[in-house]
Amino acid sequence: MATTEPKKLPTLPVIENPTRRAAVKGGFATLGAAAFVAAVSPLRQAAKTATAAEFMQKHYAELTPEQKADVIARLEAEAAEKYGAEVTIADDRPIPGTKFVYAINLSVCNGNGKCVEACHKENNHDRATNQSYIRVLEMPKGTMDMEQGSTTYTGTVPKDDKFYLPVQCQQCDEPPCVDVCPVKATWKEDDGIVVVDYNWCIGCRYCEAACPYHARRFNWKAPEVPAEEINPDQSYLSNRVRPVGVVEKCTYCLHRTRRGKLPACLEACPTGARVFGNILDPESSIRWILENKRVYILKEELGTKPAFFYFFD
Ligand code: SF4
Ligand code: SF4
Repeated sequence: MATTEPKKLPTLPVIENPTRRAAVKGGFATLGAAAFVAAVSPLRQAAKTATAAEFMQKHYAELTPEQKADVIARLEAEAAEKYGAEVTIADDRPIPGTKFVYAINLSVCNGNGKCVEACHKENNHDRATNQSYIRVLEMPKGTMDMEQGSTTYTGTVPKDDKFYLPVQCQQCDEPPCVDVCPVKATWKEDDGIVVVDYNWCIGCRYCEAACPYHARRFNWKAPEVPAEEINPDQSYLSNRVRPVGVVEKCTYCLHRTRRGKLPACLEACPTGARVFGNILDPESSIRWILENKRVYILKEELGTKPAFFYFFD
């Protein structure tokens, strides 16, 4: 039977001012040789294809504006070389006074999956694996236990005895994924969005194991996207094409939402089930939902404090 208990994880050192060399040394000393080699084996695969510039790149938080500009220029050139696509990679920062929150009306969602498709295209996911940051669960009525849902449902929707529960990163206020990262490659930003520096991630996948919502994805191979299908409107911390051997996740489409647009999944939803906005704005729809509806969060007992809510009419 499914359980909602968090997985037991090894205690890891958090490395101050991390460098890749320090990460490898620290992990080796703590876990022992065999365990550490097993944990970072995807990194070894990625390292074979890394250029010297990639390998020596500093953590996002330590890059000066000039270094960021150089990194972004390099990544744009790589996109042209590897994918044959002219892309623009921005460094979208949080808007002061903004805390993004999402809510879904489960009385309205009918399981059509248009949000899943929109995420797939918007975020330049691997075409062959049909990757997306959203999973829509077909749920038996009478429970909010997401472990009882099915992602492999077929046939005509909606079914009378089911409801549909879209799940993506909940942008937790107490994110266990962030706590376990040994190199601080993932963190929570001022607008509430949890991000990953894909060039700092060592691919150990601790964060993936720590997430109770199964919201993180690991790139087992370099994503394949035809040039004509690449979304060229990209951001460093969101939808630029991620390298092999790193973990990625939903960022509330920060390359859109930090520019005043709505997430791609919301725009694609034909039923109007999705509501998104700045909870600090007293006039916002999302604020109205939280003040006037009975809202639910998933796995409340874990204390992750999601910034993602569900409600019924
Ligand atoms: S849903 Fe998972 S990946 Fe997202 S912030 Fe929470 S623990 Fe981290
Ligand atoms: S896989 Fe996750 S925990 Fe490991 S380095 Fe990357 S972001 Fe951190």
